Amino acid sequence: MSVMWDLPDFDGHEAVHFFHDVETGLSAIIALHSTHLGPGAGGTRFWHYENRETAVTDALRLSRGMSFKNAMAGLPLGGGKAVILADRNRTKSPEMMAAFGRMIDSLSGRYVTAEDVGISTADMVEVSKQTQYVSGLPVSDQSDAGGDPGPFTAMGVYLGVKAAVKHKLGRDSMEDIHVAIQGVGSVGGGLARLLAEDGARLSIADINKDHAASLAAEIGATVVGLNDVMRLEADVFSPNALGAVLDKVSIAQLNVPIVAGGANNQLATPEDGQRIFDRDILFAPDYVINSGGIISVGLEYLGDSDVNEVNRRVAKIPARLTEIWKESATSKLPSAEVADNMARALIGR
Ligand code: NAD
Repeated sequence: MSVMWDLPDFDGHEAVHFFHDVETGLSAIIALHSTHLGPGAGGTRFWHYENRETAVTDALRLSRGMSFKNAMAGLPLGGGKAVILADRNRTKSPEMMAAFGRMIDSLSGRYVTAEDVGISTADMVEVSKQTQYVSGLPVSDQSDAGGDPGPFTAMGVYLGVKAAVKHKLGRDSMEDIHVAIQGVGSVGGGLARLLAEDGARLSIADINKDHAASLAAEIGATVVGLNDVMRLEADVFSPNALGAVLDKVSIAQLNVPIVAGGANNQLATPEDGQRIFDRDILFAPDYVINSGGIISVGLEYLGDSDVNEVNRRVAKIPARLTEIWKESATSKLPSAEVADNMARALIGR
């Protein structure tokens, strides 16, 4: 039997809690990677896992990712993540979410939750009836920040793409800069609109072909094939759909000097950070460039729900990226590794 401490993804996690509610049958894991900077904050994933080991691995990896992301966003929050082990039909009820809320409450504020894959704002409202340690709730009358983090993430990615273009190509303007965008949902679509206003040339791809076509018509972009978007000759490739899109094969086919986008966990393996670096492609570490959403959600929870403050902090993303790229050039280490090292220092590891 392998125990938690021996698992490959165990990284000095402070605690990993396993919960089960007999009445509703709800099973959940709450992993706290670090509370060095504050309560472990990170969303809840509602997912059907083929086996329980995968759920544990997900909780361990995602909670560590949140430690790094919150630290690099300059938030007084640690890293945590919850996963709910859904059944094959993804059965969910208000009673289950209430039970989950009580599980969170039993940790007395060491973990703060929000939405992640499979969890809606309505689910969070159910959770909030049982515990105060929850964020990502609908915007209230009392505050003007919070709610959907997508637009703040899109703004951070937009500022990060501009910083990358300045750093790598020495260009201050996005006029005629060609950006290939994979996924034009909440983040990628917001990014595309902002770039279009600046006169950038846009190629977009999305599995939702109708959505891609209508956005392209609206902003004057060109729709390209799902398999072509990563191989296009362009100035920037911006992944805003799935994770793990940058692997040995796809990196070899990239035809851009810059990769900068909002998707989480873009590198399939840590070695892929080195591969991108070896090809002299400037890479924006995902949890740094896509931190606009967590800045909004984090400040909402901390009670500093002022949209100006959120925007002020999102505006710092380019400087943080530039610091990483400069350190990467000096140390000859991939930018992803530089970011991890900076994050580890911030959480005292
Ligand atoms: P979304 O669901 O609104 O948009 C994703 C889009 O990608 C959809 O339009 C979907 O059709 C498209 N898509 C899916 N698979 C695709 C494929 N193989 N090729 C091309 N398009 C594909 O999600 P989102 O909120 O925009 O998030 C996008 C990415 O950004 C995710 O990786 C997410 O984890 C990450 N992210 C989002 C936020 C946020 O605030 N929303 C914050 C941080 C990171």
